[in-house]
Amino acid sequence: MWFAFILILLAALVGLHFWWRAKFRAQQEQRMAEIEASRQRQQQTSVDAQAQQKILFDSMLEGLLLLDRSKKIHLANRAFKNLFGIKTELRGKTIMEALRLHELAELVGRVETEGQVFDYELKLPELSGRWLRVNAAVISNSAGEREGTILVFHDLTRLKQLERTREDFVANVSHELRTPLSLIKGYVETLLDGARNDPEVAERFLKIIERNAGRLDLLIQDLLTISALESGRMQLNLQPAELKPLVEKVFADLHSKAENKNVRLVNDLPELTASADASRLDQVLANLVDNAIKYGRAQGVVRVGGKKLDDGKLEIFVQDDGPGIPPESLDRVFERFYRVDKARSRDQGGTGLGLSIVKHIIHSHGGEVWAKSELGKGATFFFTLPGA
Ligand code: ADP
Repeated sequence: MWFAFILILLAALVGLHFWWRAKFRAQQEQRMAEIEASRQRQQQTSVDAQAQQKILFDSMLEGLLLLDRSKKIHLANRAFKNLFGIKTELRGKTIMEALRLHELAELVGRVETEGQVFDYELKLPELSGRWLRVNAAVISNSAGEREGTILVFHDLTRLKQLERTREDFVANVSHELRTPLSLIKGYVETLLDGARNDPEVAERFLKIIERNAGRLDLLIQDLLTISALESGRMQLNLQPAELKPLVEKVFADLHSKAENKNVRLVNDLPELTASADASRLDQVLANLVDNAIKYGRAQGVVRVGGKKLDDGKLEIFVQDDGPGIPPESLDRVFERFYRVDKARSRDQGGTGLGLSIVKHIIHSHGGEVWAKSELGKGATFFFTLPGA
């Protein structure tokens, strides 16, 4: 009896032991699974955070470079790679290995000693000719230990180009103003010195003064037009504009100029209606026809023609049969103050701004303007306009 009781107790104890073991193992497995799931969640969160950080850095317009404690690249965003034209992976490289730029490597050295460097201007080697502004600072942890360096790059190239264009413009304008002004001054002094006593000489000098004052006036008018066009202050009054009568009006305005050179003006335009600002279009046609008379051949022909293109736009041309324009100058004639023959342009009273004004007006209508020429066979200026 006792024996049976002990046996049952033993069996119960063994059963209890296995039950406990199984339960303990299940609990342990469950705990392990939870730890693993938590680890995976953490890993995923870290991957997500890194991906988000990359999206954030890559969406920046500024180039960004993060260096680690040993001055090796930890991160370079997309804008940075674009600025430097780099397609390969940069992680783990030094600045010298990645870019071969002593100046930048030296700058990083300076940041180490000074803590930060702001507004440092860096010109990239000739090939790309880019200008960059670099702001750099040391990154430290809460204990004040250096963790790395951050460098932010802004592209200054466009700004520098604008600055250069402005400087060139001011220099050109001063030069253009000074030429007629010094002539006026010279002739006035000569008149005051006694030339006024000879009526014939006086009249000749006064005519020169009048012509140069007129040139100054024209130049100032053109400068104001250019300035208004470039600043976007000029509002276009777009209306259906019939081109043929507009050309007739321009021909009438320039009739005596053409007659002086025995130039025949031909209006070959078919009936075309543009969506344009008539007074600005008048300025475009007047500049082109005036140039064709000025730079064309004496006893020559100036022809205006055009057609409607398949896409509904209108293409107009102004053609002369003069000496033409050398191929290397064909695009440049639209630049401010560019002249193929400076002396000839000035003799003709040109300001060097006419074609630049034409280009602006046509572009503001959404059109294009270009020139074609074969030396000795004349020049043709084309432009497009939206049809009405
Ligand atoms: P400008 O006041 O000197 O005429 P533009 O801007 O109108 O200035 O023209 C720029 C230059 O383009 C002129 O100086 C001239 O050298 C050249 N050019 C313009 N039109 C013609 C043309 N029809 N034939 C030859 N050269 C031309």
